[in-house]
Amino acid sequence: MSCDTWQAKIDTYLDAELPEAETRELEAHMRECAACSSQALMRSQLKRSIHLAGKEFALNPEFRKRVQGEIRPKVAGRGWVGALAGAACAALLAVVLISSIWTQRAQRQQLIGELTDLHVTTLASSNRVDVVSTDRHTVKPWFQGKLPFTFNLPELQGSPFELLGGKLTYLGQDPGAELLFSVRKHVLSVFVFKDAPELARALASGAAAHKLSFNLASWSEGGVRYVIITDASREDVNDLRARFQAAAQ
Ligand SMILES: [Zn+2]
Repeated sequence: MSCDTWQAKIDTYLDAELPEAETRELEAHMRECAACSSQALMRSQLKRSIHLAGKEFALNPEFRKRVQGEIRPKVAGRGWVGALAGAACAALLAVVLISSIWTQRAQRQQLIGELTDLHVTTLASSNRVDVVSTDRHTVKPWFQGKLPFTFNLPELQGSPFELLGGKLTYLGQDPGAELLFSVRKHVLSVFVFKDAPELARALASGAAAHKLSFNLASWSEGGVRYVIITDASREDVNDLRARFQAAAQ
């Protein structure tokens, strides 16, 4: 298939609506094609901005009522000049309030977006991991001395999961681990960072859960923040999360 044909399918891919076989083919193609992988990254970022803007600019009905309630009593006694001034003030107030709410939420969602981008970039890259191994006793020590924290990898024997390896990654200035697993031909990224209040806030919000078309799980254990991002099923995400939590005990 030509790049044009693949690029026409990228949006469907990002919505997780591309048939399984084509998804694998596209991911394989993106690993070898810089043009298509950068298209995928660009469109995933664009999608996120549209999603955010659409959501955050929908006016909350209670706020609308409050603004209308504040305008109406004043309108009665002041004639049209006063009414116009009142309406202009209310409109300005609304813009200021909405944009400050929007900025706060955007900052929170930006973090999820950055993690999603890291996941997509890894999937599209030709060398997905720096330490290639299915053995947790090889992968875990590789991170020693590279990160300011430690974590345990789960035992996967007898499970549908396979460890593919790991690499160093950065979220802003903070180094972390990105671990790759596969389950039924789906790839899961597990990000591990030192936990921080802003990470906890961003990931705890319910709004984060249905981010884009990916499934996401996040939890904190012993000062370490774990985030799973994948197109695999919610059940698989919960399963892998439980295995990580058991390994941390
Ligand atoms: Zn291509």
